[in-house]
Amino acid sequence: DSAVRTPMVIGNWKMNLDHRQAGQWLLEYSGSGQNWARRMEESGTVVNRVEIGVLPSFTSLLAIRDMARKTDLNGELSFGAQNVSELDAGAYTGDISAQMLAALDCRYVLLGHSEQRRYHPEDDERIDRKMRVVLDSGMTPIVCIGETKLGRDDGIGIDYALNQLVSAVRLLSPADMSKVIVAYEPVWSIGTGTPPDPTVIESALADIRDFINATFGADVAAKVRILYGGSVNPNNAAQIIRRYGVDGFLVGGASLDPTKFAKICHRV
Ligand code: PGA
Repeated sequence: DSAVRTPMVIGNWKMNLDHRQAGQWLLEYSGSGQNWARRMEESGTVVNRVEIGVLPSFTSLLAIRDMARKTDLNGELSFGAQNVSELDAGAYTGDISAQMLAALDCRYVLLGHSEQRRYHPEDDERIDRKMRVVLDSGMTPIVCIGETKLGRDDGIGIDYALNQLVSAVRLLSPADMSKVIVAYEPVWSIGTGTPPDPTVIESALADIRDFINATFGADVAAKVRILYGGSVNPNNAAQIIRRYGVDGFLVGGASLDPTKFAKICHRV
């Protein structure tokens, strides 16, 4: 069933790479000799076999957009933001609106990353509204869910993550949902060098797709891309992507090195 879903790799740069370093990253990436978006002939048309994107800081978005346009990466490397406000324009000092991100040609907006949930008052209640504004602005939400180590040890791992998803998609119609990307990121595996066993990832992603199927129907469940995130690197990417239902990766640490990132893309 995965034939209808284009696999993808998204680099989450977190709070790294200022706009000059981001530009340098792009240069190295495009010159790395890696055929980043391997193409494949499909019924006469050339399509990107893998969708690839990066999520820079807000301050680097403009530079990435302009450089991607100038290099031959335009259209081959998508980009988006790491968060957004659920509010419209107005007296909200320090916030960034969906309209501002759409004006920068952002394709994606990451929502509900565990670091936002942990260090900011990000909660399920706001995330569902953010899903709405991102879709209404024509962008694609990438919603992160995942249990903490405590949750895993208590044996409520995937249920914890599923509850987050239930809440995040509360305001969406089936048509909305088919555009959403879900990233399953067990919090205990982020930045630790230790992803779960690939079979555990496969079963978690199957549970997520089952929920989508039960809530939005089989057509939607067949379309939604579900990514794995947490300590993905060039050495473990191949064995994880082989598992059934894994549509790609959300990559943190390893995405900061353009060569490593390209290698991960190559494994997909
Ligand atoms: P990591 O981060 O790849 O460094 O574990 C993943 C993420 O937080 O999205």
